Amino acid sequence: MTANTSVGQQFACPSCGRPASAPASIHRTSEGSVRYSRCECGRWLVTLAGRVVGAAGR
Ligand SMILES: [Zn+2]
Repeated sequence: MTANTSVGQQFACPSCGRPASAPASIHRTSEGSVRYSRCECGRWLVTLAGRVVGAAGR
């Protein structure tokens, strides 16, 4: 089952729960595309290959 492969899905900020805005920066790696999206609360959401892998800033 590979139904969850849609591109452009939104990610919720782990800090405030708001949906992240469009990625400000995208880097391609061997593991997939790493995207950095800035949240309204000031955090940076880091997503890799469609999964949230971390958050930076505050
Ligand atoms: Zn946030």
